[in-house]
Amino acid sequence: MNVAFVTLVTNEDYALGALALVRSLRLTNPDFPSIVMATRDLPQLQELAREGCEIRFVDRLPLSAEFEDRHSRGKLHGRAPYTKGTKPIFHDPLDNFCKLRLWEYEEFERIVFLDADTIVVKNIEKLFWYPEFSAAPNLYETLNDMHRLNSGVFVAEPSKRTFQDMLCTLDIPDKFWKRTDQTFLESYFPDWHGLPYVFNALQYIYFHLPQLWRWESIRVVHYQYEKPWETNHVRREQLKPLIDLWYSVLENRTIPVDVPPLNSGSS
Ligand code: UDP
Ligand code: MN
Repeated sequence: MNVAFVTLVTNEDYALGALALVRSLRLTNPDFPSIVMATRDLPQLQELAREGCEIRFVDRLPLSAEFEDRHSRGKLHGRAPYTKGTKPIFHDPLDNFCKLRLWEYEEFERIVFLDADTIVVKNIEKLFWYPEFSAAPNLYETLNDMHRLNSGVFVAEPSKRTFQDMLCTLDIPDKFWKRTDQTFLESYFPDWHGLPYVFNALQYIYFHLPQLWRWESIRVVHYQYEKPWETNHVRREQLKPLIDLWYSVLENRTIPVDVPPLNSGSS
């Protein structure tokens, strides 16, 4: 089966994120190709290519000016403020929608998309045998969120027809996608398949749901909200072991044998 891992970068910050992601994939899933979708040339793209990634330049989606205005950073944050965590200044909500371009890559039977703020700490190749649309729950605060999906890791079956149909469903007058691609994909695939949360362990489970932080089971760590490379990281203390984990992948190409839960002592 022709398959690939795909991520998206639109600026230097996310390109740095992708570098850690791609290094983690080299360590844990070396047998499958990785593609970086980029909306423009960025300094780290050469480095990403040296890591063996294919770089594919993509255009932003052909969206109406009204759609772009409604989903601009200022407007979106005003209308649907983020109350659970902070979004870095370099995060442009409109850029999230570019993910949908992967449905154009029909040469692949399956694509596993990973946000550029994830790292893969174990083998995840079995995801290629899951159907469209598979994603893990948006679990980071309480177990009540099991029914919500998180769009940082998902399995797709590329199809230009699907892509065209998505564009028609996405940009309709006055439609507001409060959490951008995530809300859109949840609505477009109402019968989405649930992946175990360990395929997309959101960093906040580390302090909100520490009982779910089981290092031996976790396969993908997703740094939703604050990014590990942010200089003004507001949860630096709470997330230190996870930030250290991210740097050990980026700088030392090493995945620690254990990242124990909070207050676990030596166990
Ligand atoms: N992204 C990007 N540039 C942006 C915003 C998003 O390249 O300005 C891409 C990147 O792959 C990122 C993903 O879209 O990981 C989703 O955004 P993010 O991970 O910041 O959202 P969160 O996981 O915090 O909800
Ligand atoms: Mn993310």
